Amino acid sequence: MKIAYTVEEVRKQVKAWRQEGLTVGLVPTMGYLHEGHASLMKKAVEQNDRVVTSVFVNPTQFGPTEDLEDYPRDFDQDCKLCDSLGVSLVFHPEPSEMYAPDFCTWVNMDVLSKTLCGKSRPIHFRGVCTVVSKLFNIVTPDRAYFGQKDAQQLAIIRRMVRDLNMDIEIVGCPIVREEDGLAKSSRNTYLNAEERKAALILSQSIFLGQKMAEEGETDAAKIKNAMVEKIQTEPLAKIDYVEVVDGLSMQPIEKIEGATLVAIAVYIGKTRLIDNFILQ
Ligand code: AMP
Repeated sequence: MKIAYTVEEVRKQVKAWRQEGLTVGLVPTMGYLHEGHASLMKKAVEQNDRVVTSVFVNPTQFGPTEDLEDYPRDFDQDCKLCDSLGVSLVFHPEPSEMYAPDFCTWVNMDVLSKTLCGKSRPIHFRGVCTVVSKLFNIVTPDRAYFGQKDAQQLAIIRRMVRDLNMDIEIVGCPIVREEDGLAKSSRNTYLNAEERKAALILSQSIFLGQKMAEEGETDAAKIKNAMVEKIQTEPLAKIDYVEVVDGLSMQPIEKIEGATLVAIAVYIGKTRLIDNFILQ
């Protein structure tokens, strides 16, 4: 497995692969890799001749009061995992490699990026769309892999690729959970023992809402209220949002009919965690 720190090194490697007629998959990550990331890389290795994993804590998707500085990092461990899964190249640029001091070109999305996480993180998806576009331009993959864990992000990337005619197949991968139900996340490391227990309220409320919907409940407000009540039983939990939205437009709906996303964001202490389920 190779490690590249510059755009030029990645371009050179991908060009060589292309000359051999090989296909390329991309897995964008912010590192501190866990089994959720591993599931994306496994799928990418299955479906492509070569896989590039990017490990980059992208500063432009963090708001001024968010956890950019504290975000967990362990690049050596990340490389070991990538290597063990058959990844061919890890791209690990410095922020200065990705953003020139006078950088001023952004990929901005309307509508989809204004709800859910976009409400409490107003510049987040501009940063995500911009960095993912840059990675797509640098790696020029055939396929790129994203987790359903970040369901709004996945919907936004799919829309960006469609709207801007990017010739890349977007592959969504299911949420990987801890044995007790908590969705795996690099941010789970922020939780102390008491908070880790309290964090179970997210998956418990998700499973409750999912059960109601699967048993035929179509009233979005009833599902939402039941989930809110469940979360409120946990004293350490503070709700950012509990929403039932259309699976494509990310706009709130009243009645569940077609593809629907039920998504939550909850603070456990200072740590903001997200979870969701999808109804087709
Ligand atoms: P991150 O490093 O948090 O930016 O995540 C990189 C990619 O891994 C994103 O596409 C995430 O949706 C995906 N991912 C993170 N956690 C999980 C999980 N528990 N299950 C599935 N995919 C995940």
